[in-house]
Amino acid sequence: MTCLEINLKKLEHNYFSLRNRLQPQTKMIGVVKANAYGSLSVPVAQKLVDLGMESLAVAYAPEGKKLRQSGIEIPILVFYPQTENFEEIIRNNLEPVLYSKRSWDGFVKAVTVSKKMNYPVHIKYNTGLNRIGFGPDEIDWVLKNIETGPFEVKTIYSHLGQTESLKPDRFTDNQISTFEAIMEKHNAAATHKPEYHLLNTSGVFNYPDYHMDWVRVGLGLYGFANHPQWNDNLAPIAELKTNITQIHEIMKGETVGYNCGWSAPENTRIAVLPLGHADGLSRQNGHGKGAVMVHGKKAPIVGNVCMDMVMVDIGVIQCKEGDEVVIFGNGSRVDDLAENTGTISYELLAALSDRIPRVIKK
Ligand SMILES: *Cc1c(COP(=O)(O)O)cnc(C)c1O
Repeated sequence: MTCLEINLKKLEHNYFSLRNRLQPQTKMIGVVKANAYGSLSVPVAQKLVDLGMESLAVAYAPEGKKLRQSGIEIPILVFYPQTENFEEIIRNNLEPVLYSKRSWDGFVKAVTVSKKMNYPVHIKYNTGLNRIGFGPDEIDWVLKNIETGPFEVKTIYSHLGQTESLKPDRFTDNQISTFEAIMEKHNAAATHKPEYHLLNTSGVFNYPDYHMDWVRVGLGLYGFANHPQWNDNLAPIAELKTNITQIHEIMKGETVGYNCGWSAPENTRIAVLPLGHADGLSRQNGHGKGAVMVHGKKAPIVGNVCMDMVMVDIGVIQCKEGDEVVIFGNGSRVDDLAENTGTISYELLAALSDRIPRVIKK
């Protein structure tokens, strides 16, 4: 059976590895969006709370609602709140990030209807990524509206576009100095005392001078940091395993899979595995781009990845039907598998579908 094993001991290791790099006053926002990067958001979030995580973050309101329903009580930021979800955000005591005049005005209305006071919100500025955020030229509007809005502005932040770059980086330097100017203006407006943040996981490693009041760590908790040198400090928490469903003896010239995707260059053995692109094993892994580990030996994926199954060339590897196969985890890395198929660990992990049973290892 295919299963994704989530190791909470490794999550704990990563939590402390990140925590120990921070200044004592810097707090952490644990990012558990997209089902905690494809793992399992509720037990992962609960473990982070038990470890002392100060705050959590999700991308969208329903993800936060799910955490609240499971009994998580610490602050939960919603990074990308949509106006349609404002009521749901308030009902579930989630903290939205306000990023435009439209989102600000809409949330003022929703909070006014709810008759709440000093509702906790976060403000995001766009310093160059050009995703979401108030423009730096909108700061006077923001400052004016903070005074009249029914909000407590807890934090102010921006997001950097390439924190993993080890080269001197003018783009990032510009983003940082733009944000520093924004901080200065906010600090000069004496009516509120917000806290600030800028960094994701690779930023924590690469920009130790800018940890500020908070950091927003996602990928690092799950064991990756976008660079081999930083990865060494972390342990991947997820292992994707399965078992061989069937083995075929294949003669030279026989083909395997849809559209005769692969033709055996010599006599060999093919193992059929019970997972496919519907589980998140991308079709890009076909034709030898991806490989799995059978008893510690590499077996390349042959032909096209099917929706529910995939075939690998096991050659002379000693194994039989029912034996365990590792897709990633022990002996092979998600980021390598991702790189071979032209993507990144984030996408590969987040694409693991809910058809794969998750098993929590405490
Ligand atoms: C996802 C996300 C993060 C976490 O980034 P990692 O690289 O996974 O640490 C931080 N900030 C924002 C705004 C995000 O959307």
